[in-house]
Amino acid sequence: MSLCSVSDCLEEARQAGRCFAHHKRACRGQDLSAPVAKRHRTRFEALWAVVLAVVACPTDEASDVELERLKVRVRMAALRYADKSPRYARSQQPRT
Ligand SMILES: [Zn+2]
Repeated sequence: MSLCSVSDCLEEARQAGRCFAHHKRACRGQDLSAPVAKRHRTRFEALWAVVLAVVACPTDEASDVELERLKVRVRMAALRYADKSPRYARSQQPRT
């Protein structure tokens, strides 16, 4: 495997010597030096990252909105980890 030709990028080269993200940027004529968002390899990693963000979030009043936003992201990541979209989860509720 060879690495992306963009300096400091540690992703695997896929297209024209660049990783997918940098290849797409090069095609669009976008800035190649801007940082690429870190992709989570697994659903567990994504869930874990958002749980850690909740734990690290300050509990003062100014952070209430951010905390609520993070709670929604935890719920979405947990459903994704359990391999259930919210719609699927709802349709699978036991009927009474
Ligand atoms: Zn790259």
